[in-house]
Amino acid sequence: MIGRESNTDTIAAVSTPPGRGGIGIVRLSGPLAASISNQLVRLRQPLEHARARLADVLDEDAGSEAGRIDEAVVTYFGAPNSYTAEDLVEIAGHGSPVVLELLLGRALKLGARLAEPGEFTQRAFLAGKLDLTQAEAVRDLIAAQTLTQARQAASQMGGALSRRVGPVKQALVELIALLEAGIDFAEDDVELTTQAEIASQISALTPPLAALEASFARGRIVHDGLTLAIVGRPNVGKSSLFNRLVERDRAIVTATPGTTRDTISERISLDGIPLELVDTAGLREGLREGLEEAEQLGIRRSREALADAALVVIVLDATEPLNDEERRLLAAVEGRPALVAVNKSDLVRDLPEAERSVPDCGDLPALATSALTGEGIPALRERILELATGGAAAEPGMLTSLRHQQAIAAALAALADAAQANAAAIPHEMILLDLYRALWALDSLTGQTTLDDILNLIFSTFCIGK
Ligand code: GDP
Repeated sequence: MIGRESNTDTIAAVSTPPGRGGIGIVRLSGPLAASISNQLVRLRQPLEHARARLADVLDEDAGSEAGRIDEAVVTYFGAPNSYTAEDLVEIAGHGSPVVLELLLGRALKLGARLAEPGEFTQRAFLAGKLDLTQAEAVRDLIAAQTLTQARQAASQMGGALSRRVGPVKQALVELIALLEAGIDFAEDDVELTTQAEIASQISALTPPLAALEASFARGRIVHDGLTLAIVGRPNVGKSSLFNRLVERDRAIVTATPGTTRDTISERISLDGIPLELVDTAGLREGLREGLEEAEQLGIRRSREALADAALVVIVLDATEPLNDEERRLLAAVEGRPALVAVNKSDLVRDLPEAERSVPDCGDLPALATSALTGEGIPALRERILELATGGAAAEPGMLTSLRHQQAIAAALAALADAAQANAAAIPHEMILLDLYRALWALDSLTGQTTLDDILNLIFSTFCIGK
């Protein structure tokens, strides 16, 4: 157990968000947690592992008047069966910020230290209760803005990612042990592993890691979300389409004022993926200043929104032929994830084919929509989602953080080097260096592999020297 010796102090913090609430919790972790709690509140029954106890919070500063200022529920978890693996106490009072501050201040006087942000989880990690990916998932769960994000974080917290990396790492350690044994015990009649066998073992490690790396395409956007700009000239129906898209998916309602007066943005959740919609609205203001100017303003805003967006929807008016600005806009998004909504389809539906203006959108996928009737809106959502995810489906244990993706990429690169070294019949010592690099990369996700782990494997699987 690493951290037990180095974390002998007792930490305390208010664990509930700042401000008034129905309840508020002061949390203590460390060897003094129980004894400090005993002095902090007047318990009506002694503390007992995993049992809630009623207690009075006394207003000691009121001198002889000392009366009860709050009633609290105190729950004690004895080491190692707690979140942090240390003695842990949670004092839940009626969420009054002043009372919580009073309790915390007193806990600090009684010998606790104010916890750093994330320190409870850090202790859980140091004690081996969580690996790094799980600790990161705790943070992600707290930060989750959509249910899909929360589910993803919960599954990672439950070890979904570690379970995918685990078997690969195990196989890698076995290969390392095999090669180490061949080198160290060459005189003891241990046969060197053949080049072909090493090659096949290395190549077996690659596909699961490659699949994991590929999952980042979707995992990343589940975690971070994407910005989608809705652009086009005034009056084509951008705001109306925006409202249509926002309408059903008001899962997250944090309307943020745009970075400029003339853009508005809103976060929506599209199939669990947080999308920030940016509409180049506000053009009505421009309209008052004259149409010519509004056109220019619209295009300028569109360009700005375009520059920052990961995805672009260009809105055209089905009743109007393309103008030069629109052609430029279409050209500007070439090669980027973009699609065209040919809006106001309701107005051309009854026109004979020959009279409909069919815009030339080049290679961009175009679909007919009507913000008025709702026609084509579900298809628009679907295409946006496809564009966002690159078609990658949700899967358990997908990579959601760049750190994880880089670790997996580093492991894959090291394995490729190992395979190459092996193919060139380079001595095993050198191949081992590459394999260790791959192992360290995986270690950064699921925790350290010690020399002992490798030695144990050598001795347990190879009966060397009896
Ligand atoms: P924006 O300037 O591009 O944001 O356009 P708006 O969303 O403000 O729409 C301009 C006008 O077109 C409004 O009067 C809308 O009611 C109308 N409009 C928008 N979408 C449609 C549509 O699909 N069909 C019809 N018939 N009118 C629409």
